Amino acid sequence: MNEFGFNFNNTYKDLPNSFYQSAAATPVDFPNLVAFNDDLAKKLGLNHDALNSTEGAHIFSGNQWPDGSAQIAQAYAGHQFGSFTMLGDGRAVLIGEQMTPDGGRYDIQLKGAGQTAFSRMGDGRAPIGPMLREYIISEALHALEIPTSRSLAVVTTGEAVTREEMLPGGILTRVASSHLRVGTFEYAVRAEGENDHKVLADYAIERHYPELKELPEDEKYLQFLHAVVDKQASLISKWMLVGFIHGVMNSDNMAISGETIDYGPCAFMDEYHPATKFSSVDVGGRYQFQNQPGIGQWNLARFAETLLDLLHEDKETAKELAQEALSRFGKLYESHFLSGMREKLGIIEAGEDDGEFAEELLNLMVEHEADYTETFRLLSLDRIEESELFRQEGFEAWYAKWQQKLERQNVSKEDAFELMKSVNPAVIPRNHLVEEALNEAMHHGDYSYFHNLNEVLKRPFEDNHDDIYKNPPKAEEVVHQTFCGT
Ligand code: AMP
Ligand code: MG
Repeated sequence: MNEFGFNFNNTYKDLPNSFYQSAAATPVDFPNLVAFNDDLAKKLGLNHDALNSTEGAHIFSGNQWPDGSAQIAQAYAGHQFGSFTMLGDGRAVLIGEQMTPDGGRYDIQLKGAGQTAFSRMGDGRAPIGPMLREYIISEALHALEIPTSRSLAVVTTGEAVTREEMLPGGILTRVASSHLRVGTFEYAVRAEGENDHKVLADYAIERHYPELKELPEDEKYLQFLHAVVDKQASLISKWMLVGFIHGVMNSDNMAISGETIDYGPCAFMDEYHPATKFSSVDVGGRYQFQNQPGIGQWNLARFAETLLDLLHEDKETAKELAQEALSRFGKLYESHFLSGMREKLGIIEAGEDDGEFAEELLNLMVEHEADYTETFRLLSLDRIEESELFRQEGFEAWYAKWQQKLERQNVSKEDAFELMKSVNPAVIPRNHLVEEALNEAMHHGDYSYFHNLNEVLKRPFEDNHDDIYKNPPKAEEVVHQTFCGT
């Protein structure tokens, strides 16, 4: 432990050497701390007063390393838009694995800290905009109770980065229960050591699924695969229930822990449409909203392939076992999604037609271009008659059915509404608000929009926020495209 509260225990370096390269962040001239997450610092056991300072700015820019830091970039590979590539942390450096007061272990990583051995043609830097975006959206997901990496700090570097235009540079300090990805396994099976993937699997089990580690080998790796399938089915159902679009679900951006990681051109939907996509680089719409469960399963198939020889010595049997594990994804996803939808609609006593019934509402929302978040919140507040949707053809019939369902169940309507209010957010990081916060910060040096938005997003299930945070965008405010800023 040191004055800042860093308490590192760096286990990743115990993996074979080819899993990482040492990496020293390239110093920056004028680091300025523009965001610092007090709550998260406390949770990590860090000394927030010491870090929310000029010295903190030097630490969170990589100018100064706390004692015991790891200073490595991790190797990985991945399927990007379906094509395999060797990757690695091209612009991220691990400060260390922080041991928290409650016994947790979290990677603390600088993103945008300069070139590493994996930078390929890149400059290792990031514009400030996308780092602020990751801060806002990852913290918003956390407040929505969706597993995610977190954001501890953002600094501006005082240097410009060259993209299509010159932009102010930024570095994000990201916190994750690990940065092990499907892509880390894709790397491991191609690494030097014959057993590297097994070593990695044992490491991942120890770190994320310790309950499996005592199992005999012929069960352990299969159960590991099942566990990751479960975690991803649950995670992706949560995205789908709040209208979140990750935007770049490459296999290197899928975490073994089941946390959402690697925020790029991600966004929340305003108007509900299953084919929604925002990412400027996702030309074919591979990662559009409705494709997310299917892509999740596709990535898990790439993961399963890396474990085949650990599942069974007979190749055919191994494939069958993997197939069986993967085929559970669809059922698990459907069941998580359906129970989530029931909650969103206040249905506590399950009925057989609930799935169809929810689908009818979603179809009406598509047809009448209804706002996803606002519709569910107004339903939760018993104020749906204030919406445009309420007056649209077909809604009355659906609404009557819903009333019947609520009245028929052995639970008071008030209890149903309470449940709904606890799962249907009143505020989400709406694109137009995110863009406004980023623009004000980037072009006018005014961070108040960014900070105010973050404050609001900490309490997504409360209604006592200014209308500007709750209302859907006006026609002229709608954002159609988002950029990843790599
Ligand atoms: P991402 O789109 O952030 O998931 O990144 C995909 C890959 O590109 C990762 O290996 C990154 O480390 C790398 N990368 C992204 N931006 C840069 C950059 N500016 N410099 C070097 N590598 C980068
Ligand atoms: Mg990535």
